[in-house]
Amino acid sequence: MAPRSLIVGNWKMNMNCLSSKALVVNITRNVRSIAIELAICPPFVYLLPVSLLLSSSKVVLGGQDCHNYKSGAHTGDIAPEMLVDLGCTYVILGHSERRTYHSENNAVIRSKAKAAIRAGLIPIICVGETEIERSAGKALEVVDNQIRGSLPEQINSNDVVIAYEPVWAIGTNCIPNIEYISTIHSHIRKILSDICCDAVNIRLLYGGSVKPDNAKKLMSAVNINGALVGSASLQAEDFLAIAKEMS
Ligand code: PEP
Repeated sequence: MAPRSLIVGNWKMNMNCLSSKALVVNITRNVRSIAIELAICPPFVYLLPVSLLLSSSKVVLGGQDCHNYKSGAHTGDIAPEMLVDLGCTYVILGHSERRTYHSENNAVIRSKAKAAIRAGLIPIICVGETEIERSAGKALEVVDNQIRGSLPEQINSNDVVIAYEPVWAIGTNCIPNIEYISTIHSHIRKILSDICCDAVNIRLLYGGSVKPDNAKKLMSAVNINGALVGSASLQAEDFLAIAKEMS
């Protein structure tokens, strides 16, 4: 049996306190008919108000990043234990925007992933090739290196979620064709089986310009267990429509 599907909303650096609360209320009011798991990842400063609103909901919470230490002199950083303290289940790690704008490499992401698991979080580890790498025919090689370098050496299937996000598809309204996604996802599943004995149960998400009108088609890709959604997660109707299409 395939693992339970998961749709994650990555709000990135958007919303304010009022609009965050309004969005969550709109999502939780209309979530009853959705059978799959939903998670939302607001900016750190809105985690608490959102967490309070989610307390009696089946929608779960995630952070957008975390440090690899529990505490200490790390101005501006957030420990994974702090995310747990606020009710988070997940944390996004290694998003291409962190890899690019914060120079996070595979070793950093691996150490954050270990810390997140230690704290009781499930890291959603992002991988994906850039446009230059894609056109050079290097997508599989790049993803291979990122998976082998960013994941902890020993994992169980429920320790992590993988999000394949081709960088050229993020925020561009341009998605790969289903065969392309299927090829990469099958390759990822193969690599995962080298490092995890029940790799078939690791959830593998697709991310990059997922919208209500392409969600159903995306689910026809091989080895896909849901989506990581950016801009379309900022509208309750769109986020829930994607979840319905992917259920
Ligand atoms: C993302 O950045 O994780 C993402 C998937 O963004 P979008 O859906 O806006 O392309």
